[in-house]
Amino acid sequence: MENLSKSVQPFLEQCSRCGACVEQCPHLQAHEYESPADIAAALSNGDLNESLTNIVLECSLCGLCNQVCPEELDFKQMVLDARNAFTASGVIDPQQYRFLWVDYDWCLFSIFRDTYGLNDRYAPLMKTACDVLFFPGCMLSIQGHRIVESVYEWLGKNGDSVAMLTECCGAPLQQMGQFDRYKDYNETLWRTIKAKGPRQIVTACPTCHAQLIEGCDSSDDIEIVSLYQLMAESGLRTKVIGDGSATVHDSCTDRNGEIGTYVRMLLKDYELKEMAHHGANTICCGSGGLVSAVEHMVCAFRAQTRLDEVAATGADKCITYCMACAHRLATQTDTNNVAHILELVLNQWVDHEQFEEMAGAMWNGEAGEKNIERMQD
Ligand code: SF4
Ligand code: SF4
Ligand code: SF4
Repeated sequence: MENLSKSVQPFLEQCSRCGACVEQCPHLQAHEYESPADIAAALSNGDLNESLTNIVLECSLCGLCNQVCPEELDFKQMVLDARNAFTASGVIDPQQYRFLWVDYDWCLFSIFRDTYGLNDRYAPLMKTACDVLFFPGCMLSIQGHRIVESVYEWLGKNGDSVAMLTECCGAPLQQMGQFDRYKDYNETLWRTIKAKGPRQIVTACPTCHAQLIEGCDSSDDIEIVSLYQLMAESGLRTKVIGDGSATVHDSCTDRNGEIGTYVRMLLKDYELKEMAHHGANTICCGSGGLVSAVEHMVCAFRAQTRLDEVAATGADKCITYCMACAHRLATQTDTNNVAHILELVLNQWVDHEQFEEMAGAMWNGEAGEKNIERMQD
């Protein structure tokens, strides 16, 4: 509760009810509260009702409200602190996020890798010591094994010794409000990273990138750099396919454009058509905030809103640089026009439909029984 009181207070004192955040966010428009100040008051008074719980559970944590707030108020942090307090008081059942308990031996990602032999396949890449550590992130590591292997090879082309780590960055634990578990997980993760002795960590996912920067000890002399920066600076450019026009879906964890700028450099030979919301004002693809664990329809609505913006640009392709975004958007449309930037750069394509089938099939038959049991640990 202490964290929540701290994050609620600025809203009670400074929110002018200007409506700038509500105007930008369909999630805030869909509930009975007129402003974040009213939400803060309800949280502060403990006025629990379904609407307040939904505001907390169905927020995508995209941060657009923070971006547009003239008072620089942090609504996203207030939601995280509310999730933390709701978990402690039993309002949130942590089991609803069980498949994302990345600090347990078995979660969705580790079960997928084990069921489909990816751990064996990746074993030669998981060296014990390295100069450069490749951190592909959970979604890319289960959806794009050939992409992961190609990136690994590319990173070693100048003679650096490269190792890979398929661990999660821990973001899901933080997003579900399990702050203590995130802290423990992050400490273990960094012990594992440091044991390999890298001078540089290369990330392929903008959320991992932000999370590793947040979780690292600033006194450590390990550089954290995005793969897209390295690729763009090396002079790589993607081959043009289709009619040569594209739009970029910026990740909400990259509002400062640190990574999106390099993705656009990789797409230099395309005619870029920006969406109404891009860069600092980007909107969520529908997979943010762990909302799929509580309400699928909200995720589908957000994905469709994004795809409508894609269509309005008239661009032939929508390019993402987060595999969760690519998957969410690609499975919402049958136009086959969504691609991850690495698919274009490496000319290796992810079959999202096949992935969905595999993710469903791992709960069936004998293997399924074993996997269900694993999730009950
Ligand atoms: S973080 Fe995103 S979804 Fe949540 S309230 Fe802010 S703008 Fe809306
Ligand atoms: S933008 Fe900021 S000041 Fe305006 S209503 Fe939202 S939280 Fe309050
Ligand atoms: S999936 Fe990508 S865009 Fe969507 S919330 Fe996560 S990082 Fe943001």
